[in-house]
Amino acid sequence: MTQQKEQTELEQSAHQKRMASRKAVMDAKIAKATEERGVLILLKGNGKGKSSSAFGTMARSVGHGKHCAVVQFSKGRTETGEYKLFKDHPQIDWHVMGHGFTWETQDKSRDIEAAEKAWAVAEKLLQDECYDMVVLDEMSYMFKYGYLYVEPVVEALKKRPKMQSVIITGRTMALPLQDIADTISIVQDERHAFRLGVKAQAGIEY
Ligand code: ATP
Ligand code: MG
Repeated sequence: MTQQKEQTELEQSAHQKRMASRKAVMDAKIAKATEERGVLILLKGNGKGKSSSAFGTMARSVGHGKHCAVVQFSKGRTETGEYKLFKDHPQIDWHVMGHGFTWETQDKSRDIEAAEKAWAVAEKLLQDECYDMVVLDEMSYMFKYGYLYVEPVVEALKKRPKMQSVIITGRTMALPLQDIADTISIVQDERHAFRLGVKAQAGIEY
């Protein structure tokens, strides 16, 4: 056997051992994760990708025949690609609730009224077993600006149907939400095309 061949066989056998032990570790972890229930997912951070991740996960659920609902808390753009694609889908109910907000006039009492209306819609969804997934997009700002109290939201999330999953997005998250979340992902802002002078584009930003 040449030295080179011997070396390759040694590497191959070491690789096989490493992979076998990694598989054993993974199999043990999989065997432990047996619970079946909905999860609360928080997508936070300053980078781009929170809302699009939430809607991507929702598309995945819809593909499995599940029923989903979206409540959009912030004004933003109404003619988003996701709204155009999903608004008439038979498995999706989409509520754009941010219209009442008055960022320009800074009328806090009107903002609170708009937030409460949006929360009233969301609260009903969280009591309804028909919905397998509820996306509360940009909800975190409601707590940051003091438009909504977080405690009733935490209570409603705790009492929701067992198999219902909820995704909440927003740059900053209220700590009581983090305390009860199953999955928290931070989307980090390392670079954004906007700062390179690139204009917001249909299909990328909205
Ligand atoms: P997306 O909807 O693309 O997943 P997001 O939900 O993570 O983005 P938001 O904070 O909701 O981000 O902001 C929405 C819009 O702002 C998007 O058009 C996005 O491209 C843009 N954006 C997100 N992060 C940044 C950033 N760090 N700098 C500039 N623009 C950003
Ligand atoms: Mg967003």
